[in-house]
Amino acid sequence: MEGMLKPGSLKDKTIIVTGGGTGLGKSMGKYFLELGANLVITSRKAEVLQHAATEMTKEKGGKVLPIACDVRKYDEIENVIKLAEAEFGQIHGIVNNAAGNFISPTERLSHRAFDIVVDIVLKGTYYTTLAAGKNWISKKQPGTFLNIVTTYAWTGSGYVVPSACSKAGVLALTRSLAVEWAKYKIRSNAIAPGPFPTEGAWSRLLPGDLAKKFDPAERVPLKRVGEHQELANLAAYLMSDYSAYVNGEVITIDGGEWLRNGGEFSHLENIPGEMWDMLEKMRGK
Ligand code: NAP
Repeated sequence: MEGMLKPGSLKDKTIIVTGGGTGLGKSMGKYFLELGANLVITSRKAEVLQHAATEMTKEKGGKVLPIACDVRKYDEIENVIKLAEAEFGQIHGIVNNAAGNFISPTERLSHRAFDIVVDIVLKGTYYTTLAAGKNWISKKQPGTFLNIVTTYAWTGSGYVVPSACSKAGVLALTRSLAVEWAKYKIRSNAIAPGPFPTEGAWSRLLPGDLAKKFDPAERVPLKRVGEHQELANLAAYLMSDYSAYVNGEVITIDGGEWLRNGGEFSHLENIPGEMWDMLEKMRGK
């Protein structure tokens, strides 16, 4: 899978990716760098970030500023903005990608466990959005938000209820601010990925044999999982000026997964051809 945009499509743009040292955040960041952006990656683990920054610049060139920041701490986010501006002058875009999740029957969760996910995913996103938005508005600078949600932001999902509640909130934030802050030339969009293999989403969420037993590719009409570059292409487009008229949108990239699982008769794909022949005969065709 190749990069989609023209070389230099993100030249001179500074983009902050929360949770940018691992998984999808790292893949999006790498492609932003390749397209000429200055990159700021944040998460809690300084060592992981430093390692990722070294790998990224070695592979793609450009400049990466790694800054440890817990999205649950507003003052740490303000510090990221200050350091990013000191290094690169102006910030152009934020990708709210940091998240936490675990699978569990809801009745087994303590209220504190619920809080942990909501604090990272929903509060972390609105803290980052508020800090960056206030900064852009006070300086009369335009900006672009891209929020990484999931398709169960609108369908809901059992066994990941704190995450579903949080992502639904992030989607509401995206759409609300797309309207309210458009007057400041601040755009807000979201991506809802289907299954993309990452250490965080898979090995930790579905440990051991679980990932084999519940093979995510099987749920997808295209019968495969996503490639990171496919997501990076979409993210780069939404962060670039090519999408200047796209605002308040959530774009699903899931091979048709959520629609298939919502369609009442979609599971009939398991019926073999001979049985369809038999059904046709029974209808008298
Ligand atoms: P991941 O590698 O685990 O990414 C999560 C990142 O968030 C990590 O870098 C983590 O770094 C950071 N993080 C967690 N808590 C944080 C905190 N309190 N403050 C700052 N950073 C924090 O998993 P991923 O699969 O790439 O997920 C990336 C995004 O895609 C998430 O929003 C996820 O919900 C979404 N998504 C993924 C899939 C998929 O199939 N992979 C599907 C749908 C949606 P530290 O631990 O160092 O803080």
